[in-house]
Amino acid sequence: MSELTRMTAADLAAKLTAREVSSEEAVRAHLDRIAEVDASIGAFLATNAEASVAAARDIDSRRAAGEELGELAGVPLAVKDVLVTTDMPSTSGSRILEGYMSPFDATPVAKARAAGLISIGKTNMDEFAMGSSTENSAYGPTNNPWQLDRVPGGSGGGSAAAVGAFEAPLALGSDTGGSIRQPAALTGTVGAKPTYGGVSRYGAIALASSLDQVGPCARTVLDTALLHDVIAGHDHHDSTSLDFAWPSMAAAAREGTAGDSLRGLRVGVVKQLMLDGVQPGVKARFEEALALLAAQGAEIVEIDAPHFEYAVAAYYLILPAEASSNLAKYDSVRFGMRVTPQGGGTVENVMSATRAAGFGAEVKRRIILGTYALSAGYYDAYYGSAQKVRTLIQRDFASAFEQVDVIASPTTPTTAWKLGEHGADPMQDYLNDATTIPANLAGIPGLSLPMGIAPEDGLPVGLQLMAPAFEDARLYRAGAAIERLIEERDGKPFWAQAPSLANATTGKAAR
Ligand code: GLN
Repeated sequence: MSELTRMTAADLAAKLTAREVSSEEAVRAHLDRIAEVDASIGAFLATNAEASVAAARDIDSRRAAGEELGELAGVPLAVKDVLVTTDMPSTSGSRILEGYMSPFDATPVAKARAAGLISIGKTNMDEFAMGSSTENSAYGPTNNPWQLDRVPGGSGGGSAAAVGAFEAPLALGSDTGGSIRQPAALTGTVGAKPTYGGVSRYGAIALASSLDQVGPCARTVLDTALLHDVIAGHDHHDSTSLDFAWPSMAAAAREGTAGDSLRGLRVGVVKQLMLDGVQPGVKARFEEALALLAAQGAEIVEIDAPHFEYAVAAYYLILPAEASSNLAKYDSVRFGMRVTPQGGGTVENVMSATRAAGFGAEVKRRIILGTYALSAGYYDAYYGSAQKVRTLIQRDFASAFEQVDVIASPTTPTTAWKLGEHGADPMQDYLNDATTIPANLAGIPGLSLPMGIAPEDGLPVGLQLMAPAFEDARLYRAGAAIERLIEERDGKPFWAQAPSLANATTGKAAR
């Protein structure tokens, strides 16, 4: 493996700026890495070497000409397939959009390109971002780089696995109920869900519009913050995008590692997030993280959030309701595939044959659930009640944040499970989201970073931090400080403990 793939984005960026390496070399090293290991990982749905190398050369020549470039200019970037791009197909993991080429780039991708980042591929995901394991992708599962027979989490398992397997230093994801944070936890990487509206959703193929948020994935808190700074900001194409002067997340992360930033920090632990089903190794690592924080002068405060126990139920009404409406546009006329049933037929026949063939089981399940929840006579009982629960959860957070600066929890109740282990029972996946969903319902930011390895299975465990809306920088400051403590404890950065996959091509791939 080239050393260019085994360094942080910040270090790679510094080498690019110093012209010790070229962007072309960095991009080729990562494309080689993808060629070497991705048959075993399955993180990528598409690459376009020609376009990526051409973009890298352009950055190299602009740098050589003395042009002032962004801090991350020339660094490779993987893009979750939920974001439309002009250089490769955008499928959202669905058969119904197979081969779909977008006429424009999603705003976060456009901003990344404007900052000089080089898109090197589109990453695998659960179909339309519905899932917690990436097993719902129409294009086959992604494997966890730590143990190839384990899931990488979902829905953004491809982006997390790409970063975790050193196929890309940075990636973009989307988080509707945890799809950035949960795969980060399961692959030993870092991922952030920004404040709702902090990053434009323009060009992010919609799942549930009131919950969806695009965000950054990387191997360190600082790298995640650097990418966050690139993609954040107002966009007139997205009416929910916030017009707010965001402070630099990277500056906050650097501050966090510099000084005594944990002293006096009030850290809330929500009783209701310490679920009965939390795996012993996850619990042990979490308690150890709290002890590390306390030893640095942080104050640990127990918090009661009585309505969190209804979060999963409310989410799995609101999400299907919004998804059933968002997915109505895949009607065989406007986008993607068309199936004409035998003997032709009416518009309705073509539409139903197309949707029957184009959507997978989980997508159909949620469309049916959502259509039912929104139907006349049931609307108030289901959707209306779920929205009331959402307000109660927002109030629980508001009163919690009167007492504490951040809330900490395990990102997920368990480490990565085996491919196929949850079988056909979607409830097991849904319950795994219990810890991440409240942040989406409230629109607040969340960050997941690795806090160690569970002794019982040798798999990474994630620590989740949450802060009030607009306080994303607080997460990076605290997250970087905790990351440094964990590095001091382990004697090396967490990412340096990730398997090199030297023999991955002989490993067993589930594809
Ligand atoms: N696992 C959650 C779900 O299936 C989260 C999805 C997401 O964040 N896109 O809905």
